[in-house]
Amino acid sequence: CLDDYDPHSMPVETAKAFIKDYLTPVNTTERLNIRASLGRVLAADIVSPLNVPAFNNSAMDGFAFSAAQYFGGALKIVGTAFAGKPFIGNVGTGECVRIMTGAVLPVGCDAVVVQERVTVNDNAITFSDSPKTGANVRYAGDDLKANQVVFKAGHLVKPADLGLLASLGFAEVLVYRQLKVAFFSTGDELISVGKPLLEGQIYDSNRYTLYGMLARMNVEIIDMGVVRDDPVALENALIEASNKADVILTSGGVSVGEADYMKMLLEKLGEVLFWKIAMKPGRPLAFGRVGNAHYFGLPGNPVAVMVTFYQFVREAMLVLMGQTEPKALPLLKVMCAAPIKKMAGRTEFQRGILHLENGDWVVKPIGNQSSGVLSSMSEANCFIVLATDVGNIEAGAEVQVQLFEGVI
Ligand code: AMP
Ligand code: MG
Repeated sequence: CLDDYDPHSMPVETAKAFIKDYLTPVNTTERLNIRASLGRVLAADIVSPLNVPAFNNSAMDGFAFSAAQYFGGALKIVGTAFAGKPFIGNVGTGECVRIMTGAVLPVGCDAVVVQERVTVNDNAITFSDSPKTGANVRYAGDDLKANQVVFKAGHLVKPADLGLLASLGFAEVLVYRQLKVAFFSTGDELISVGKPLLEGQIYDSNRYTLYGMLARMNVEIIDMGVVRDDPVALENALIEASNKADVILTSGGVSVGEADYMKMLLEKLGEVLFWKIAMKPGRPLAFGRVGNAHYFGLPGNPVAVMVTFYQFVREAMLVLMGQTEPKALPLLKVMCAAPIKKMAGRTEFQRGILHLENGDWVVKPIGNQSSGVLSSMSEANCFIVLATDVGNIEAGAEVQVQLFEGVI
């Protein structure tokens, strides 16, 4: 029973799998210079046009010689090979070439002895242990081979990838167009920053955390402000958002008390399911379509907004951006330094601080785990993810954490 408030709440994984089946990724593409492609998704395979490195070269500063032809004694220095300025000529038996890191390995050489290992005397070198063939040599194609598929379409471009694309000589790449995400907050109690607060009002913070999370995902952001709990205003906002964006995110208005209202509206404008998820925080969640846009109705509580964003929206958006195999945030096992109260039957995402204690990484939960306390997210550096069937945790037990670093 997915289409109503369910007395038996839905496991996180079930909701995730359902969402995944209902996503239609963007399919229009554009050609961008490689710098601009950071954080975007490749729309075509990248095939290497050349070997990287393109030639055998030295991995160290030292002397190039033929290890296969070396039977002891001194080697005469017959020249120097610099990076970008090769040694011209053949290196014979009993000879060597002074060589710098990155310089082409001269003809007749198969190894490099590092300069710290040799004694130089009168234009000749001697060394005690002879390096074997291949020592300190980087072979052509070691990194990438010509005609190899380096990245498949659907790959999200990261900083190392920019360097790799440049090392292959690409100035531009084909990527999917940017995903457009519109969002607004709902609630009669909300006031936008810059205006004075009246009795009973609060500043709208969700739009700012949402902005921050979306900015990190490199999507086009359409901030539609605060919308009153009024059917006409909400309907207009949803219609406008569905005309402008691929994804609509709202916060608030999906909890039991308010849901009937939103439900009627969303039934009229599209297909939306309201779920009670077996998780804390973030129990109520709505998902579906408004017009052609994908819709996520997030809970109003500020921490719940962030938790549901990272557990459901992030991965879904990566798929919509064109990524073929988005990964869930990794879970790492660490020791928990303090006991945790936990109810079996739901997944909990507690806020924790991962820190070093006597050389080991351990996590301790933040004191106030209320889903309204946003400062817990600022203070924390990880989620402590407690699986559905787990109950109370004792100090010293192993728990799983999801790091914020690099993500949040
Ligand atoms: P709701 O889901 O609309 O029932 O809201 C749950 C709680 O979150 C209430 O205490 C709201 O006042 C609060 N809340 C809802 N939206 C926001 C927002 N945009 N910024 C800060 N708090 C909010
Ligand atoms: Mg509300």
